This record gives sequence, structure tokens and C-alpha cells, in this order.
Amino acid sequence: MCGIIGYVGKRIADRVLIDGLKKLEYRGYDSAGISVFRDNKIELFRKVGKIINLETELAEKGLNSRIGIGHTRWATHGKPTEKNAHPHISHSKKIVVVHNGIIENYQQLKKKLPASYKFISETDTEIIAHLLEYYYIKLKKDKNISTQNKYLLAMQKTISQLKGSFAIVIMFSDNQKEIFAVKKDSPLLLGIGINEMFITSDITAILSYTNRSINLEDGDFIVISKNKYKIFDKDGKETNRKINIAQIDTNVTEKSGYKHFMLKEIHEQPQIIEDIILTKINRENNEINFRDLNLSKKDINNISRVIILACGTSYHAGLIGKFLIEDLAQIPCEVDVASEFRYRSHNRVIDKDCFVIAISQSGETADTIASFNEIKKLKPKNLMICNVINSTLTKKADNVIYTRCGTEIGVASTKAFTSQLCILFLVSLFLGRQRNILNDKRYNEIICELLKIPQKMKNTIDSITPVMEYWGKHFYQKNSFLYLGRNINYPIALEGALKLKEISYIHAEGYPAGEMKHGPIALIDENMPVLTIATESNVYEKVASNVEEARARNGKMLVIATEGNKIIKNIADFVCFVPKTLDILSPIINIIPLQFLAYFIAEMRGCDIDQPRNLAKSVTVE
Ligand code: GLU
Repeated sequence: MCGIIGYVGKRIADRVLIDGLKKLEYRGYDSAGISVFRDNKIELFRKVGKIINLETELAEKGLNSRIGIGHTRWATHGKPTEKNAHPHISHSKKIVVVHNGIIENYQQLKKKLPASYKFISETDTEIIAHLLEYYYIKLKKDKNISTQNKYLLAMQKTISQLKGSFAIVIMFSDNQKEIFAVKKDSPLLLGIGINEMFITSDITAILSYTNRSINLEDGDFIVISKNKYKIFDKDGKETNRKINIAQIDTNVTEKSGYKHFMLKEIHEQPQIIEDIILTKINRENNEINFRDLNLSKKDINNISRVIILACGTSYHAGLIGKFLIEDLAQIPCEVDVASEFRYRSHNRVIDKDCFVIAISQSGETADTIASFNEIKKLKPKNLMICNVINSTLTKKADNVIYTRCGTEIGVASTKAFTSQLCILFLVSLFLGRQRNILNDKRYNEIICELLKIPQKMKNTIDSITPVMEYWGKHFYQKNSFLYLGRNINYPIALEGALKLKEISYIHAEGYPAGEMKHGPIALIDENMPVLTIATESNVYEKVASNVEEARARNGKMLVIATEGNKIIKNIADFVCFVPKTLDILSPIINIIPLQFLAYFIAEMRGCDIDQPRNLAKSVTVE
């Protein structure tokens, strides 16, 4: 969600800031701004909309500052206007801040300041700048405190008042050499260059300058200057933190000839799934190799229940995980939306024999972090499935399995979803094997089919692309869609509907096909496209009957069916065939046409596919 960059060093700051903000665009934002020094004064430049608006304005300014801070805002408090865009400056223009997160008690804090402090914006952020200035002015009068300590003390005093989550980056008008920062429950990292330092919420912003970085911890205060950095822990003690060396993948931020990142990422899926399978399965004996999962056979046999926590697309992966875990490992499994779970009184029903699996692409999802914090107090076994290395959740979990699908730039998740499905599949198989649920014959059959999945995904992409483009042309002007599926493909109906909503802004609902007659069937008439996943499974006949029911109400029936199904054409208006596979593996194939359909419809409607309105890539606020 949103992004921060701060720079001090040998280069012209506004160029580095704009370049960094552009790299953060994929996270989703509604306005952007920077602050640099001009004629020894702090200046703000802010614009609503795309970074290019800000870049165009700055191009004529001839700025020369070698220090500055920048921000892309995803509004939580106050509309996306220029006045509400960050940076925010203090009452007497002494201090400027950018902030990611939410200050929950900003209204109460406003009342604590003298009436002379005038608030210009509607944001929760502005209070930080004013409070900092309020304390800084007081401390400045104290001759016994060094100047450096005054900055840090003003920050400490301010932070001690704030409730909520924040990554805050600060410049003081009387200090053109240093940038200050502090974080709690929002990601922030320090980038170390040669004669230059960076501070950012996402390493992507600075990778073209340096691959050396430090992940900051909650409560850390940071000071950076051109050649130096200092980190103080939450007790004010100067501290060292590990320097990470990032692998620079130049492919990450390139579209490689595709029109959109989303399209590129959909196409990357077969290769990613192949890589996961080949690194996790030992081809000599077909056993799954989870070095990263530190659970003994006894631990696994003692698992009484699995609880999966996630949000959005990861939640849909979790719902499929439930089917897999219950089928392959025969362990009862429940799946919960993290924002709901965190406020439920679950304390009595979780113990050390529960196995909690949290899923988050970014590892920074605020609700998943909060529910994981809650649940960890009860000491269950736990596992994090995540894409971003060293992210917050990966540090909290006892076990981490990375999806390693590469940076996902498109806001609407595609490759992260299928890689989560693949990991969940392997985890379920692994648990089932360890618990002696799967005999050799069934296990080997499943592995044998799993190994064919990447090629089947490739074939699916090749064969269904023109079909989905054709469907898109027919349906892009519709206002509403219904997606139906059953059993393990019910979550695929949810995920297909979510993709369509996210990027085309068409209302879409996913429903378990059998539930249709309990309500949603009332919606069906000749204007309602009903997309049903009816691939081969033990419920195929049931799903086919559900298609008939909707057709009898004149709905336009779009069906995803298994190759070789000769009779489906009799009941469907449009059919898309996908390769035959095991039902338990079918979601990983069946989601592909739905990703393409959402993509083509959004394209035909002229939507901003990689950065849909109102959405952020990783939701770091509650
Ligand atoms: N809560 C702040 C605002 O609405 C910061 C939002 C963000 O993280 O971009 O301005």
C-alpha cells in the first residue's frame, strides 16, 4: 500500500525520488508528492493522480537539492486531493513528514495542541508534523541537550503519543544533511549506497541504486546522512542490524513485450509452477522435500486442526487449501478472513496441536499480521506462505515457505495465487504422506499428474486466449456477472469474480452452484452472464444440473469444461475447454481462463489494468 522514499547523497534528489516513486506505482496510489530544499527552505510539490503529473511539474523547476523525501498516497483519511497528499509540513514549516499507515487517535491528539496550530489537510498524518514541531521547539530551548538528541527526543515524544501503524520519514528545516525515520507495524528499510543513503517502504524503489539494505524493526529510529547511518532501538540504544544483499532481477520491472504486467504475470505461471515442483519434489523417490518446514512426524501426527488465515486472493487460495488438507491429509481445516479472525474470541479453542497457516503475498498484510500476533500467543504450530523474502510475517512465523514467484507488479494477483495453490497442494500431500493417509499408489499417481501440470497450464494459455478474447468482446458491456463452482472449484468462482471486480469494475459475485436456488437465481434473466466451472469431478452432474437451472431462466451460460466433454455444448451458450486433470489439481488450471477473461474485459473497457482504482498491492493498513 502506498510508498515512501527518502534520499540523501551525491545525486539530484528530486530525480531519485521521482524514479523511486515510479517503481512504487505498482503498489497502488491516488496522489504523490515530494519535499526537497530550495533556497534553504523546505518546499513541497504534490499532485493528484499519476506520478507523471508531478514529474512534469518538477521538470521546469531546476531543483538542485541533494536531500529529499517522497510519497505515494493511498488515502485512508481524507479524499485524494492535493492538500491531503504527502508530504505534510508543520505549523511553522520547520518539519516535513511522509507517512504510511494510520494514526488512530489523531482527533484526540489535535485537541492537545495549542489552538494556534492550524490544520490544512483532512489527513491523520498532519498531526505528526505538528506534534514533532511542538516538541522540537520546546527541546530547542534546552541548552543541555545536543542538537542530534533534540531531533531524536522530539521523535520519541511524538511517537509515544501515536496509536496505530506507521512508517514515518522526516526532514527538519534546520538540517539539510540528515533524514530521520521511525516505524511501527509498517514496512521500512534503509538502503546503503556509496556516498548516498536511502530510506524506503519497498526495496523495489532503490534497487537501481543499491542492493544493500537493512530491514528495520518495530520501534527503530533511524538517522541517515550521505555517508552514515545510525539505528536506535525502541529504548533509544544505538544498535546494529543485519545488512541484506538483494538479488537484482532486472526482469522484474520490465513488461518484456507484454502490454501489461498482469498479462506478463499470467504467462509466467507455468514456469513458476514448474520451478516450485522441481525444487520441492525429489525426482529420485518422488518425496516432497520441505527443508523449510521444521515439524517432526510426531508433531504432524498430533495436529488436531489446521487454521488458515489470509485476506483477498490469498484467502481464496486458503479455501482451496481446506479441500486439499481435508482430502489429502484428513485433518479438519477451517479458513478465516484475517480481518474477521482478529476480533473473534478464539482463545479457548486454539492450542499447541493446532497448525496455523498464514498466507500473504507481501507478508505485510496488516490484518494477517494482527491475527497472527494474536494467535501466536496461544503457541500453535505455524507456517507462513509468502512471496516477499524477509517481510514482516516471515519473521514472526516459526516456519516459512516462500512461493518464489518473483515480484508481482499487477495489483490484481495472478501468479502469486497459483504459486500459493501449488505450495498448499504440496503441504497437503506432505502432511498426508507423513500421517500415512496416502498409500504409495495414490501418492505416486498424484505426483505423476502434478508433474504434468506446468505443460497443461501452457496448453491452457495457448488454447483459451482467443476464446477468452471472444467472450470478452461479447460481454464487456455487461453490468453484472455470476460465477458458479462447486467443491474445490467454488473458491475459483470467488477468485474469478474478484478478478473481474478488481480490474474491470463490473459487479461480479461468486457462489457455490448448489446455493443458487436459495436466492441468487432471482437475479437471472437474459442479461445475466453466468459463468460456471464444470470440469470433470464427482460433482460434475450436479454442476451440469445447476447450469440447466440457470439456462431455464434465460441466463447466458458460459461454461469452463474438460476437453472431450461432448454434451456440454447442448446446455451452454459458450464453452471453454481446459485439459483434463485430477479434480484436486483442477483449480490451478481453471483459474487461468478467468484471469484472461477479467483481463480482456478490463482492456476493452479501457481500465487501468495494472493499477486499478482504489486498490493497493499490499494492504498495510487495517
Ligand atoms: N493515513 C494516511 C493518509 O490518509 C497515509 C496513507 C498512506 O499510507 O498512504 O494520508
